[in-house]
Amino acid sequence: MSYLVFARKYRPQDFSEVVGQEGVVKRLTECINSKRIHQAYLFSGPRGVGKTSLARILAKAFNCQSFPEPTPKPCRKCASCVEIQEGRSLDVIEIDGASNRGIDEIRELRENVKFKPSYSRYKVYIIDEVHQITDAAFNALLKTLEEPPDHVKFIFATTAPYKVPLTILSRCQRFNFRLLSEGEIIRKLEFIAKKENIPVDKDILRYVARASSGSIRDAESIFDQIVPLLTEGVKFEDILDILGQIPETVISSFVENLLKKELENLLTFINEVVEQGYELGNFLDGVIEYIRNIILAKLGRGVLSRIVGVSAEAQERFLELSKITDIPFLIKIIESLIEVKKIGRFFPSLRVPLEVEVVKLTHFQEAIPEKEKPSNIEQTEELKTSLDTFKHKSATLNLEGLSKFVKSLKGDTPPEGSQEEPSFSEEKSEETITEEEVKAVWEELIEDIASTKMSIATYLKEAEVKATEGRVIKLGFPKNFKFPKEFLEGRERKRMVEEAFSRKLNKKVGVEYLLTEEVRQVQNHPSRPKEDLGKIIKSFDGEIIT
Ligand SMILES: [Zn+2]
Repeated sequence: MSYLVFARKYRPQDFSEVVGQEGVVKRLTECINSKRIHQAYLFSGPRGVGKTSLARILAKAFNCQSFPEPTPKPCRKCASCVEIQEGRSLDVIEIDGASNRGIDEIRELRENVKFKPSYSRYKVYIIDEVHQITDAAFNALLKTLEEPPDHVKFIFATTAPYKVPLTILSRCQRFNFRLLSEGEIIRKLEFIAKKENIPVDKDILRYVARASSGSIRDAESIFDQIVPLLTEGVKFEDILDILGQIPETVISSFVENLLKKELENLLTFINEVVEQGYELGNFLDGVIEYIRNIILAKLGRGVLSRIVGVSAEAQERFLELSKITDIPFLIKIIESLIEVKKIGRFFPSLRVPLEVEVVKLTHFQEAIPEKEKPSNIEQTEELKTSLDTFKHKSATLNLEGLSKFVKSLKGDTPPEGSQEEPSFSEEKSEETITEEEVKAVWEELIEDIASTKMSIATYLKEAEVKATEGRVIKLGFPKNFKFPKEFLEGRERKRMVEEAFSRKLNKKVGVEYLLTEEVRQVQNHPSRPKEDLGKIIKSFDGEIIT
């Protein structure tokens, strides 16, 4: 399975192909049209929104040989355009501010920098993650920026502009990139699907767009990852699983129970969501968005259809649910769930804070039922007292108490923290498992699994045996492979892998998935390793400034 293929294949090649970032594109083309070519540009914004792609397009615009001067419409055909596109232009040097490279490349670059560009108009340095360079390197860079050679242009990209010293910022033309909207991402994915002849439902694209949180690179990468499943005919629900997305029907039922104050159902739901291996954070986001749509439905069908791009059936559902509640309660729910996300940072899981809020919400509503609103002051006072008592109670409700409470509500279901299965690492046994033993059966194990469940094997292949601890096998995924990891963390799938291992190794073992620091990247240009900025800057300092 090849990753990031789409991100590379469908990387925008000129300004007209850039998705989103209209503001940035407009300003850049205006600058070029009016012949205002600056010495240094700073592209700031979240990761994966097109900063590096646009930097390359700008480099093409500077150096296109089909025009006598920089052009907003590089030809894409001349030697310079083609070489930049393929990442092998001698005059466009991409540097990763975060990594280290060998001294040879630095020597080569040091030689290069003092000379004019080999054949282009400008020598363009694209420095990615520029905020990561050291203070000393920044100082050296500053000297270069104060008196730059005419033939050198800098394009800096950063996800953390606040970490770039002001002295540097003040010398750059700054361009802020934004996250892409779901609509923009969907349009790009539709374009790719059409070109690649991939049959795909718009609903899936919408989920991909949502899972990518506005990063086009992530969206393309996720799409890459699900293409084998799409062509294999894997069910929509399973694909949602990989995306960490909870099916809308689940969210819809949860919300309905919330509006109807069905506490027991709600707690069972939360339990289910956790057991299915879904991210509670994603679940909460889904619920918040859903409630927001019901608020819009309250404001009228027109408002809803204008603002929310969903199917007619979904709209009907929002309208239907909007009838059984009122706006203050909907707002109260959103506020409570946002609170859960805030408080959740102090807990290992969002589960307990969510359960507490759900209990509060259902009681809050019970205390003032719509139909039995107090008709006189006495009743109001009574109600106020009972509400205060409840508030006080809930404020002092400790976790242990809640846990017991939840347990009693859920009958035999064990509360948070307890485990029904034995913990492998804690099981007292002298029989541990070694990394070598695991590695010895690894290939065979994947083949075995492939014969019954192809999708599990496909994603397992992307993992590496990292370590063992007691009888737990730790499998690591590169950190940009979050989706295969989450897919395999699904309860049933995890169990299946553990059983397969146990059979192969003849002892009961557990499996744990983790993300490593590695980023499996295929989008760098293979022909040109990225150079180390710190050393390069030193070379500037030594060769040019002094
Ligand atoms: Zn050209």
